[in-house]
Amino acid sequence: MNIPRVLRGSREEVNPVVDRLFLAPSGATKMKSGPIYEAPGVTRVLSGHSSAYLLPTNPEKTEYMAIDAGMDRRARNIKRMMAMIMNPVVAANPEEMELLSEPDVNEQVRRHITAIEIDPIETALRAILVTHGHKDHTAGLSAFSEAAIYVSQEDSAYVRGSTKAEGKLGWLLGRLPEKSRPHQGVKTLESGVKEIVIGDRTVGVYKVGGHTTGSVAYGTDGNLFVGDALYFNKYGGVSLSPGFVSHNMHDAAVSLVQLVNTIDERGDRILTVVPSHSDVGSMDTLRRWRDEAEPRLYLDHDRPTELLAA
Ligand SMILES: [Zn+2]
Repeated sequence: MNIPRVLRGSREEVNPVVDRLFLAPSGATKMKSGPIYEAPGVTRVLSGHSSAYLLPTNPEKTEYMAIDAGMDRRARNIKRMMAMIMNPVVAANPEEMELLSEPDVNEQVRRHITAIEIDPIETALRAILVTHGHKDHTAGLSAFSEAAIYVSQEDSAYVRGSTKAEGKLGWLLGRLPEKSRPHQGVKTLESGVKEIVIGDRTVGVYKVGGHTTGSVAYGTDGNLFVGDALYFNKYGGVSLSPGFVSHNMHDAAVSLVQLVNTIDERGDRILTVVPSHSDVGSMDTLRRWRDEAEPRLYLDHDRPTELLAA
C-alpha cells in the first residue's frame, strides 16, 4: 500500500541527549501525543521535546487552530495528527488514534490508516497562535502557508527571522532559518488586546513575559495554553523554565503571578493549564503556587530562582 510521505515515521521523537541533559533532570511530567483527557477537544502533538496543540474552530470539526508549530520545519507530526483526527474512520475510534500517534508506533499499525487525503490538511489549519518566538515552537510555521499566524509584537521579529531571541537560548539557537519563516507574514498582537476570534472560538490573550519578553498565554474553553511560562513537575507543583533558557527569571515569576491574578480578577473561566514541555495541571495548582510565590517575590528580588521549587 502506498502511504503518503507525510504519514510515514518522522524523526521527531525526543532526542535522547536532550532528554538526559535537560528534560529528565527538570522533573517535568511526561507528555504523550493524542487527545488530552483533562482538556476535552484538545489534541497534543509531540514535536521533538516540544509540543503543539490542535483545537477545532467550527462545530463540524473541519477547521482547526494550533497553539505553536513545533520544532520540525515540515511539521510532519502535526500534519499526520490532523490527518488522523479529520479522518472519520480514525476519529470514530479514539483508542486507535492514541496508539497511532505514538512517535515510534510500528509501521505496520500505521498502515491501517487508509485513504487519508493530505491536501486539505494544510488549508484546514486556519490559525497558529504562537506562545513565544523560540525555535522549538516556531520551526513548523512555514509548513502552513494558509494559516493566519498570531504573535506578540515583542516576539514577532524572532518569528520573522529578522533577529534571534534574547538571552542565552536565543544566542544558542540563532535566528529562525529562512526555510522555517512564515511565507504569509504574521499578525502582531498589539499590547492591551484581550481577546481574538478564530472561527467560532474566542481566545483570551494574556501577556506573560520573562521567558521571552513577548511570551503570551492563550485561554479558550477552560484551558490556558502557557507555552514555556511554567511546567508542572513530578512533585505535583509548578516550576518555572530554568534560568539558562529564560530571558529574565524575575520577570517570569512576576508575570506568572500577575497572569493568575488577572484571570481571577476578570473572572475568566480557566480550569486546566496546558504547558508546552510537560503534561497538563489544574488552575488550582497554579493558584497554590501563586499564593506561595507572591509574598516572597517582592521580598527577594535578587533570587527569583528560589521560586523554582515552589
Ligand atoms: Zn521557550
